[in-house]
Amino acid sequence: MPEESVDTSCRLEALRRRLPVMKVDAVVISNLTNVRYLTGFTGTAGLALVTPADASFYTDFRYEAQAAEQVRPLRVSIEKRSLLRAAALQAKKRRFSVVGVETHCLTVDQKESLEKAAPGVKWVSVKQAIEKAREVKDASEIETLRTAIGITDKAFESVVARLRPGLTESEVAWKLEESLIRLGAEGKSFETIVASGARSALPHGVASAKKLQLGDLVTIDFGGKYQGYCADLTRTVCLGKSTSEQRKIYSIVRSAQLRAEERLSSGLAGKVIDKIARDYITEKGYGKEFGHGLGHGVGLNIHEGPRLSSTATGKLCAGCVVTVEPGIYIKDWGGVRIEDVAWVSDNGCEILTTALKPARLPEI
Ligand code: ZN
Ligand code: ZN
Repeated sequence: MPEESVDTSCRLEALRRRLPVMKVDAVVISNLTNVRYLTGFTGTAGLALVTPADASFYTDFRYEAQAAEQVRPLRVSIEKRSLLRAAALQAKKRRFSVVGVETHCLTVDQKESLEKAAPGVKWVSVKQAIEKAREVKDASEIETLRTAIGITDKAFESVVARLRPGLTESEVAWKLEESLIRLGAEGKSFETIVASGARSALPHGVASAKKLQLGDLVTIDFGGKYQGYCADLTRTVCLGKSTSEQRKIYSIVRSAQLRAEERLSSGLAGKVIDKIARDYITEKGYGKEFGHGLGHGVGLNIHEGPRLSSTATGKLCAGCVVTVEPGIYIKDWGGVRIEDVAWVSDNGCEILTTALKPARLPEI
């Protein structure tokens, strides 16, 4: 079913205005997530040809009705053959000399087919221009993200209270996913992680048949998807009474997260925010046990720009939405990760996640 249509005209307009700066006559947007962002189209076959004056949309007969509804301001063309070829023939007909394409998502075959269909056109890379634009969320995206995150927070809280020894990690994952759907999500954002006991030392420990045991640290990382937007939430809890070592590791991770969240603001480099959390964990003696980046952007994709990591380039813009997720993973012992989603502004950030986050390791 076509989803509620989103007004994407401002996004398309912003791209149009940038075409002269990009020194192209037109761009062909073929990455489906970017197509959705620019046109509102949610199907699996669609492509947009955007020029400074107009925009055309190509799809096949399966999506005729859906496209008419979702991409209304664009001229829709229903194609029997390759959509890329149709766009290339249009570029040739209109005598464009330079056209931008998303080379990071095209196969070598697809690039060759463009060249073959329109040999007079110079096909150049748009260098992830749409991904870059997607980093800064508009008001409707923030509202949608808030809904996805709110559903995820509620699903977590309803399931965490029911954790019991003997449940398998997969059963917990199932309860979380069932709860997401019941609360209005259209699905999950990514494969649910439930990692308990020694398995919690695996940063990406997808739920297994292992049974939860008293004393286990349980790390849950999951998220619901709402109107295409992804939530991302991680919490670590202890099943039953915790040990002082478990509480110590938890409080180091939580303090590292708070330090980063307190400083998070536009104009700071992703690498600087990562360093704030990393330096603190290193100072406490666990730098080697925090082996991944501090966070990532979230939106239509679960992992997108900007990155918060030691290798990230560039500064954060106001309006970007990023996760803050430090962790410590100790082999054969277990691990702790705590993840929030933050909306970055010029004077700080708003933490959109509200699920359980006490100063001390929660005992369930
Ligand atoms: Zn996550
Ligand atoms: Zn994440």
